[in-house]
Amino acid sequence: MYDWKEQRAHTIRARQDLPVSFSLHKNEEAFFTAEGQPEFHFGFAVTPYYFSLIGESPEDPLRAQCIPRKDEFEVKEYEVQDPLWEEPYSPLPRMVHRYPNRVLLLVTDECALYCRHCFRRYFASRRGGVISPGQLRKIGEYLRLHTEVQEVVLSGGDPLVLGDARISELLHILRYEVGRTLVLRLASRMPVVMPQRITPQLTKILSEHSPLFLITQFNHWREITPASRTAISGLVDAGVPVLNQAVLLKGVNDRADTLAALFQGLLEIRVKPYYLFQGDLAAGTSHFRVPLAEGFRLLRKLRGQISGLAMPVYAVDLPEGGGKIPLTEQYIEKLEEGWYVFIGPDGKRYYYPEEAR
Ligand code: SF4
Repeated sequence: MYDWKEQRAHTIRARQDLPVSFSLHKNEEAFFTAEGQPEFHFGFAVTPYYFSLIGESPEDPLRAQCIPRKDEFEVKEYEVQDPLWEEPYSPLPRMVHRYPNRVLLLVTDECALYCRHCFRRYFASRRGGVISPGQLRKIGEYLRLHTEVQEVVLSGGDPLVLGDARISELLHILRYEVGRTLVLRLASRMPVVMPQRITPQLTKILSEHSPLFLITQFNHWREITPASRTAISGLVDAGVPVLNQAVLLKGVNDRADTLAALFQGLLEIRVKPYYLFQGDLAAGTSHFRVPLAEGFRLLRKLRGQISGLAMPVYAVDLPEGGGKIPLTEQYIEKLEEGWYVFIGPDGKRYYYPEEAR
């Protein structure tokens, strides 16, 4: 397998880069041959590593995440380009400040692989370029003044497409030039789509800027491979905690046994399942969205199958910038003559005394 720079150099970025032996299915073919690609067209890139994992079937859950389909051209009336309203909450270029105590930095627009379900498709792959030294300096000044900010999320795009020197410089400013300890969260899909990027040198840089959490996105248990396992081991052994934010995706992981295998597999490689996100209302992603009622049904079933440690929080980022909320099931059905009536994971009723202390 290539090293990460070769993975980047050999990344598939156009239809003609696909191997001749690779056949596109009708819906995929229609994407590439569509005339007058819509304005919201989102980039295409697949690393050789991830491409080696996908299957031939149009139903293959890994293939669905990286090979585009014509379905992306269908935009529902409730879908928008920027479903989380990040742009209105950007006081500076490449910085989103929605919640008082944390900011989000959009470090780069580029990703190693463009996930077909991406909610930040209004930004990722669209503009080119990375955060400039001037932009970073202004963000540093903002953080020094806004002492209510305690956490910084580095995202994009995928920040780890940058070279080690740029990452080191960025982390150094956030760690040593703001005047207080910020908790850093680095959001990257590299352990999943290009685990070769997690080199010992990069791991050392990340571990030197503790407290730093790496947040990744495994969506299917087949993405847990020997290569991704090695990448995660290196990080965790070096003291970099790794958490997973999966997205609930139709045709990819919308079965309780698939989710159970994913979350259990993650625990086995020492990754804590953190969130399972309901799909955002991003333009052109309706073919991936699972109805909320189905999401609740899956979670109910899952709760009976895996431990609390393996269980992520099912959550949604509310439209129009409403923020992130957990989607909890209503386990308490009612209060009946001094007893709370609960619905268990098995669907049966259980009684708990109101006066218990
Ligand atoms: S890595 Fe993240 S930002 Fe990039 S395409 Fe995938 S989901 Fe979108």
